[in-house]
Amino acid sequence: MKTTGRIIPIASAPKLLAAHDGDLAAALGGSLHDMRNRRVRDLRISVTDRCNFRCVYCMPKSVFGHDYDFLPRTDLLSFEEIGRIARLFVDQGVEKIRITGGEPLLRRHIENLIGQLAKLPVELTLTTNGSLLAKKARALKDAGLKRVTVSLDGIDDAVFKRMNDVDYAVGDVLDGIAAAAAAGLAPVKVNCVVKRGSNDDQILPLARHFRHSGHILRFIEFMDVGSSNGWRMDEVLPSADVLAVINAEFPLEAIDANYPGEVAGRWRYRDGAGEIGVISSVTRAFCASCSRIRLSTEGQLYTCLFARSGHDLRALLRQGAGDEQLQRAIAAVWRDRDDRYSEIRSAATTLPAGSGKIEMSYIGG
Ligand code: SAM
Ligand code: SF4
Ligand code: SF4
Repeated sequence: MKTTGRIIPIASAPKLLAAHDGDLAAALGGSLHDMRNRRVRDLRISVTDRCNFRCVYCMPKSVFGHDYDFLPRTDLLSFEEIGRIARLFVDQGVEKIRITGGEPLLRRHIENLIGQLAKLPVELTLTTNGSLLAKKARALKDAGLKRVTVSLDGIDDAVFKRMNDVDYAVGDVLDGIAAAAAAGLAPVKVNCVVKRGSNDDQILPLARHFRHSGHILRFIEFMDVGSSNGWRMDEVLPSADVLAVINAEFPLEAIDANYPGEVAGRWRYRDGAGEIGVISSVTRAFCASCSRIRLSTEGQLYTCLFARSGHDLRALLRQGAGDEQLQRAIAAVWRDRDDRYSEIRSAATTLPAGSGKIEMSYIGG
């Protein structure tokens, strides 16, 4: 049997269409709040579920093998459909849009989508594994992209190759980072997912490498997204430990968040060598201020990274829904939102493989 991480129940389009008239006032009146009084500010758009890496914590080869059933191209939202949904979200208060995947630079002519979204009054960014960045950085910048985040889980070639599991060399990602900075997609954020026992020996070497570079290195706790990465709590290295390791060699001091609810904790080297960040998604949940909504590659809307069901916007779009209907649907989804998975997670709450949580490569990080 073919494996897939994406077969999940979705709220039907008719149910979305049945949003009450009262929702419309809120929908069109700007600020939209969920059941925990959180505003929608941040839209993440996944443009492909495919990737040229097989990172062990995201798309393990044992699940995402040669026979894996990726989405057929006709199922993907077109750039026009994505642009329309993004515009409606901006009308409802979204201030930041991040393009992600899978590997977003694998989507053909991605710069055309960037060009469309760059016309919206939002901060527009993209997360990439960096493999195609050296080739594409200039075109992305010219199309209107503001910044990029590049994932890099080690600076030692052997460790990095073990993490990406496709024998991809560190040097090529570093070239991509340099090209991004040269094109003006700066400051470049460099994300490292730390998996205890796999790449935690890379913390100091990465810190050393990116000091004085102007790039912002950030360490992310290994999360139990999806149900195929074999997550175990004892493989999570708490951010506090990461900071302790770096601080012992290069003393650090905390700095203020850029804005309320910022996910990364910010630190700087006392000697002025730059800034780093930690994202403590497991040990210090930030659900209370979570303002993110995710649009999957095939047009499902997810209100949480750990959701097990989405809401089918593509069906509405392809049935010919008008902007007002779509706005009602979006408002209804957000107003019903009650998610706080990370606050209630524990080793015991983690669900077994096959339990239907959405995969990271499908929903976008
Ligand atoms: N392919 C692109 C990349 O790797 O940057 C974009 C998509 S990837 C799913 C987005 C981010 O999610 C990456 O920084 C990746 O390291 C992170 N990620 C994936 N699986 C994760 C996990 N289980 N725990 C924590 N972060 C994860
Ligand atoms: Fe691909 Fe990004 Fe997932 Fe790695 S983290 S497998 S690069 S989607
Ligand atoms: Fe937001 Fe869900 Fe993550 Fe909590 S667990 S921070 S609600 S995405």
